[in-house]
Amino acid sequence: MNTMESTAFNQPKVELHVHLDGSIKPETILHFAKKKQIKLPADTVEGLLEHVSYNTPLSLTECLRRFEIYMPAIAGDREAIKRIAYEFVAMKAKEGVIYVEVRYSPHYLANSGVDPIPWGLEQGDITPDEVVDLVNQGLRKGEKEFNIKARSILCCMRHMPSWSPEVVELCKKYHNDTVVAIDLAGDESMTCESYPGHRKAYEEAVRCGIHRTVHAGEVGPPSVVKEAVDVLKAERIGHGYHTIEDPKLYKELLGRNMHFEACPWSSYLTGACEEDFSKHPIVQFRKDKANYSLNTDDPLVFGSTLDVDYSIAAKHMGFREEDFTQVNINAAKSSFLPEKEKRELLCKLYDAYGMILSTGL
Ligand SMILES: [Zn+2]
Repeated sequence: MNTMESTAFNQPKVELHVHLDGSIKPETILHFAKKKQIKLPADTVEGLLEHVSYNTPLSLTECLRRFEIYMPAIAGDREAIKRIAYEFVAMKAKEGVIYVEVRYSPHYLANSGVDPIPWGLEQGDITPDEVVDLVNQGLRKGEKEFNIKARSILCCMRHMPSWSPEVVELCKKYHNDTVVAIDLAGDESMTCESYPGHRKAYEEAVRCGIHRTVHAGEVGPPSVVKEAVDVLKAERIGHGYHTIEDPKLYKELLGRNMHFEACPWSSYLTGACEEDFSKHPIVQFRKDKANYSLNTDDPLVFGSTLDVDYSIAAKHMGFREEDFTQVNINAAKSSFLPEKEKRELLCKLYDAYGMILSTGL
């Protein structure tokens, strides 16, 4: 680790909540835009970042606009899809991450067998199924080269319930062939009651032993978290900050050791939480010894690295070395790896942190 710059936590890390399409290198976007003759608002890295990254809170619509700028350069291109997965692993290795679960919607990278075809792309021949295969190739190449472990999570989109049956089928087809879980992302005001496609996909996931996480309680109310846990049988909650507004639910989830995938810098920029980090739900999670982790979410759009999130926790939330070791052990324990691999990961962390291996893994 001596080659790394000074960071808030200069030790091996585990990251569970990060979007592949929110973690693309600007150089790669420029390269493929040129190849595909797609017009971007700028043709330099700095210029492009001015349009796709931001550092003061914006609305969700404004945030999603960022993706519309650069996704046409990447989606529907075999070489681009493989390359962003490979470069993602390189990026995480550089940040000191030894195990990462990266998530994406296969449909948002496809240009065939998807309705509607996303990003205004023309019809092509890359299906969501091939997208998963391409991402897998990129991740595996990166794993070999950078000696870290990368697994993936396939996302359903709240506004596209018609995609969800295929998402769960892809989770089954590629189970443990990098894919370890299903996720539900997007506008939380669209509940599953009104969109049963997601509920059915999650029921199938339960039936087939596919792990489950759900974006809930990020900007939405505690009721979305309750639905994620009770109806979708989520084993982890993406963000989950607003859970604490329902003390009964929060207490129940603490009792069940539910894992919250917290993303501090993201929560500031999306306006999910109050701007004062000292009043952030993560401070409550820490006080209550909740099961949670620290994650980047969309480092390209938020102009960040994992160290930004760790530094916020160190500077504004009172995190010390032992808090960081604890969140990483939490993350490893709540990872979606098979048990044997989970134990190996935990051993690596205990060893790196100089901790005695407890028998109660
Ligand atoms: Zn997310």
